[in-house]
Amino acid sequence: MPSPITSSHPHSPWTSELRHTHSADPPGQPPDPPLLLSHLSLLPRPLQSPSSSSAHILLLGGGVSSLMTSWHLLDRGYRVTILSTSWSTSTSRAVVPGAGHGSLSKPITSQIAAALWEYPPGGCGLTEIETKDDVYSDVATYRRWALESFRFYQELAELPQGGEFGVMMRELVQFFMGELGKNEEKREEITGLGIGYEGFDEKGIKRVIKELGVGGDIAEKVKKGYRHKSPVVDSDQAMRFLMELVEGKGGRLVAREVTSLEEARREYAADVVVNCTGLSSATLVRDESVYPVRGAVIRVVNKDRGSFRKVTEAMLVPSQETEGFEGVILIVPRSENTLQVGSIVQENEWELDLTMESPEVKEMWDRAVRFLPGLKDAQIEGLAQGLRPFSRKNVRVKREGWMVHNYGHGGSGWTLAVGCAKEAAGLVEEVIRENKERDNRAKL
Ligand SMILES: Cc1cc2nc3c(=O)[nH]c(=O)nc-3n(C[C@H](O)[C@H](O)[C@H](O)COP(=O)(O)OP(=O)(O)OC[C@H]3O[C@@H](n4cnc5c(N)ncnc54)[C@H](O)[C@@H]3O)c2cc1C
Repeated sequence: MPSPITSSHPHSPWTSELRHTHSADPPGQPPDPPLLLSHLSLLPRPLQSPSSSSAHILLLGGGVSSLMTSWHLLDRGYRVTILSTSWSTSTSRAVVPGAGHGSLSKPITSQIAAALWEYPPGGCGLTEIETKDDVYSDVATYRRWALESFRFYQELAELPQGGEFGVMMRELVQFFMGELGKNEEKREEITGLGIGYEGFDEKGIKRVIKELGVGGDIAEKVKKGYRHKSPVVDSDQAMRFLMELVEGKGGRLVAREVTSLEEARREYAADVVVNCTGLSSATLVRDESVYPVRGAVIRVVNKDRGSFRKVTEAMLVPSQETEGFEGVILIVPRSENTLQVGSIVQENEWELDLTMESPEVKEMWDRAVRFLPGLKDAQIEGLAQGLRPFSRKNVRVKREGWMVHNYGHGGSGWTLAVGCAKEAAGLVEEVIRENKERDNRAKL
């Protein structure tokens, strides 16, 4: 029997203060938090209450794509059930004794993510969204989704609940060894977005390099750079928050693997099934464009130690078009106390068997230390690895009859999550509207 994930746990994102605000709002108590993006409520009840005749939506997957979509649907008054093989290990709710399903000892990809917001295309060096023919989505759509997500994170970061969610607005500095190349178009766009863009020539970036404590042979090659604001999410914390919130709004979370969308739809009497299964879409909906890109980050304690100084800015040396540097360097504070150092980009590598001794992990670390020498004194917490769920046709937020897909986010699931969720919820409403029209016609 599939087991609903039950019982409250000690990490509720709802502080006593918050709980108070949604009771009777007695005089003198703080008001309800404002709606995010004018349509998402942070309170553990739906914005629009469902009735027993409200449409029932079944979502597959327990990652950020599914939980964000569920939030949108619950606030629009739908009944929501989510089935997932695995749930975030950052919540004790994920442990479902006797469920017989779910590799609960393993964090899901959404937890592993460095969860740095990047203006698309991301800097991991893959030809993500450069595919132009026969695609599910294009770069303009990615940018719209990313900007919607940016606004969501920015609004949330300004509220007390932003701390509970684990989102912080950081400065992201990007470094280039020569001309920006493909990144030039991206830079031109970012300049006009009002996200605090600042560009640097060689003199300017050398000054920033000094301020940040960056040094060594890689830094010497840097000729250009820019910086802008960027949300960074502690994805363990955010997954916990999202699960609590979705459940608080009435969503039912079930630990269960699905092998057929049609069977699941019938069994749960769902009006629409939303497929957010990431990499599993390769088999579940037989999408041959879906493939894994293995990634890893080393987490270190972000506290002064020896020559290491606490890092507060996010730093990125994206894959370069200039010769003389290979790979990617990502140095991103995850929370107040943890810094993430990465990354690795390995296409079609399915095994999660990397260790601190693996050659590619050692290379990744050495590259980062060559760039930020103080890291050699930092205390290492451990290695986090996961498979980025890429699609050769880019992200799929599309409708297929009674199914809505929301998968294929590659290395940008957190960057795109909110925009994709809003679009997926809109597609769900389209199906419901059509069903109603069909039923009305049948009654005539
Ligand atoms: C090392 C690393 C660094 C990253 N850094 C960033 C970053 O800085 N910024 C960023 O935006 N993104 C980043 N990402 C990418 C991001 O993690 C993914 O894009 C995102 O997690 C995708 O979320 P998802 O919900 O679509 O899929 P997932 O998180 O993979 O969730 C899929 C869910 O589906 C469930 N499932 C699978 N099959 C079934 C089935 N048959 N039945 C029921 N349930 C099923 C799984 O159990 C899981 O819960 C990074 C990823 C990695 C690995």
